[in-house]
Amino acid sequence: MLIKTLLNKVERFKSFVYGSIGVQLVDGVEALVIDIEPRRNSRPVCPECGKRRNVYDRQPQRLFEYLPVWTFKAYLRYAPRRVDCPTCGVKVEALPWGYGKERMTFSYQVFLARWAKRLSWKETADIFETSWDTVFRAVQFVVDYGLAHRSLEGVTEIGVDEIKVFKGHKYLTLVYQLNAGVRRLLWCGPEHRAKTLLRFFHEFGKERSAQIRFVCSDMWAPYLKVIAKKAPQALNILDRFHIMRAFSEAIDQIRRDEVKQFKANGQENVLERGRWLLLKRPENLTEKQTTRLGELLKLNLASIKGYLLREDFQRFWEYQRPDFAGKFLDNWVTRALQTDLEPMKKVARMLRSHKPLILNWFKAKGQLSSGAVEGMNLKAKLTMRKAFGFRTLKCLQIALYHELGKLPEPEYHHRFC
Ligand SMILES: [Zn+2]
Repeated sequence: MLIKTLLNKVERFKSFVYGSIGVQLVDGVEALVIDIEPRRNSRPVCPECGKRRNVYDRQPQRLFEYLPVWTFKAYLRYAPRRVDCPTCGVKVEALPWGYGKERMTFSYQVFLARWAKRLSWKETADIFETSWDTVFRAVQFVVDYGLAHRSLEGVTEIGVDEIKVFKGHKYLTLVYQLNAGVRRLLWCGPEHRAKTLLRFFHEFGKERSAQIRFVCSDMWAPYLKVIAKKAPQALNILDRFHIMRAFSEAIDQIRRDEVKQFKANGQENVLERGRWLLLKRPENLTEKQTTRLGELLKLNLASIKGYLLREDFQRFWEYQRPDFAGKFLDNWVTRALQTDLEPMKKVARMLRSHKPLILNWFKAKGQLSSGAVEGMNLKAKLTMRKAFGFRTLKCLQIALYHELGKLPEPEYHHRFC
């Protein structure tokens, strides 16, 4: 009796009542089975038109997995009615706790999905003695609900980014909303091509695209073109994070070439384990690393020259006025082009040809957080790391929406977990 009282406190289903409750074997394991009956004189709801109709007949009892109780699995048991709908025909009634052939109740799916946000999907499956696929379906349900019910009003700042997924050259393009207080993943789609971003704008819609004021992106020409075409009123900003990433890639390339050269000449590899020394900002190095960097700096290495060029460029971001920043940029480009570091020269040429868009960063200063894209990018990478067992791009997309989408959930007056 007490359990029934508790159940009514947790969740009530309109036009249905809880019946008898007992412990029974389900799939060979003892579980709590809770019977549900329709309220007397209530008529079933047609799943298609949503109207109450007469009963046609009744189907055999089915189990719907509910929230576990004291580590017992729990199930709602109900024999669905079929409605005789004059407009839609004979259909299985719509149920307030579940849908179609899915064996999980809505609330159990929300419960699993919430845990899957805190733990990996595999851990969630292990703890609740269910399968990875079940957790996947639960998250998918919650994400589908969230995408259908979210508001896309007030999106005026967006960031376009891409991350490498799986092995080989597979990418996901991500579009974030960057407005302060509502930073979230808006959209993600497979590949890194002009048509990928076109698809985002198409789905986002013309009216909303016209409201966008800032777009942060990297220097990739096809995306710049799409942005200029689909959101011509917006200020396109090549942001700090994306530009400094180009530097890191150049330094990495120089270092790899140099190590190859050491090997070919039979020289000692002084750059061994030097990758992070060169890629990290000096203020983020440990004391030991700082000492080692000091030693490296004494050597006349191409990698070190590249490193110093990058450190020198960091001053660029401290300018307040776009014209001064522009002069600094020109100077830096000239110096970089005088070196024999081909990857760095490539960066210099890229900066030179995108100068106006880079200087937009200073025009938007104070209105746009410089770390916003980087923050979202880190979170996306973290999600991927947690993503053990994600075999398909679709899984990964759902995981990203789940973790970063700030999606609304179905509302319950009781907090399940
Ligand atoms: Zn109907």
